[in-house]
Amino acid sequence: MTLSFPQYYHQFRCIASRCPDSCCQGWAVDVDDVAADHYRSLPGELGDRLRQVLRDDGNGAYLEIENGRCPMWRQDGLCRIQAALGHDALCYVCRTFPRLRHDYGDFVELGLELSCPEAARLILTTPWEMVCTEVPGGEEADYEQDIMEILLHSRREALALIADPTLSIPELLAVLLLYAHEVQAQLDGAEALPFSVSQALRDAHSYATGGSLTALLAFFKELEILNPLWLERLSAAPCHCEPVRTVAWQSVLATPWTDTYRPLIRYFLMRYWLQAVSDYDLVSRVKLTVAACLVIHALGGDLIQTAQAFSKEIENDPDNVEAILDGAYTAPALTDVNLLSLLLP
Ligand code: SF4
Repeated sequence: MTLSFPQYYHQFRCIASRCPDSCCQGWAVDVDDVAADHYRSLPGELGDRLRQVLRDDGNGAYLEIENGRCPMWRQDGLCRIQAALGHDALCYVCRTFPRLRHDYGDFVELGLELSCPEAARLILTTPWEMVCTEVPGGEEADYEQDIMEILLHSRREALALIADPTLSIPELLAVLLLYAHEVQAQLDGAEALPFSVSQALRDAHSYATGGSLTALLAFFKELEILNPLWLERLSAAPCHCEPVRTVAWQSVLATPWTDTYRPLIRYFLMRYWLQAVSDYDLVSRVKLTVAACLVIHALGGDLIQTAQAFSKEIENDPDNVEAILDGAYTAPALTDVNLLSLLLP
């Protein structure tokens, strides 16, 4: 079986008490059945505390947050369960976070989640290279071969576009969106056609006939909100920028798109592109990438911190991801015209 991972994957170490946004903060932790049974059976003070804070809503056990944090969190930023029983006693979510595993049967891709500040730092600041190794194990391929071949080939092409220094970040996102439509046609049964970046750029400019950042931010405000500060940031973003070609909006666009967006875009492509093998829907995943970059750019601030906050709010809530993938075909904020207009005003 082939196992691949970015070369920084094994560099990750939880920074615990130095973490500016602990994963023990803000959300209830789902506890798998094995760990829940273990926790309920523990003797002594730790067991009593766990029995007190472990809830079950019928869909499974979870640790309900207290004062905005996991009830097992200590003042020094460490976990009481880990401190008393070691890393292996943690529930699956806490044991594996922020590690991602995409298992396709005969090959597995590993990665890190952007929602962890330390992982975000590695993802966005470390030179990127995928390491591929052959390891024992694996199963039968768990996908349609021809669909996966299209996705693997097209992802390589998309990654090459990210590395193209002649494309600005907005141009790169626009070209990726149009390229995703070309690949989508192949997934839908059409023949592969040669893709021209310069033609795609001309097409993208011709589609960019007027967009609304307000509509895009309003769409994100309607999603499930974890941290009230996130809602504040979405609300404080330049909603006075209608219509798109006003001076206020131009000033938002004038903020430079730094090259740190390249590893950010690569992260989204590595995380979502191949997932289209499950439902043949690539365009909505690339729209998620484009919308994410636009929202992060509009919110401003430190790019690594804003991207991490975005990921924690959006990517770590499957309902939010689902809402974006569904909205990609129905929400006015996520039409090609709106996204391209915001990129290429
Ligand atoms: S978010 Fe990341 S660095 Fe922070 S406590 Fe959790 S795993 Fe550690």
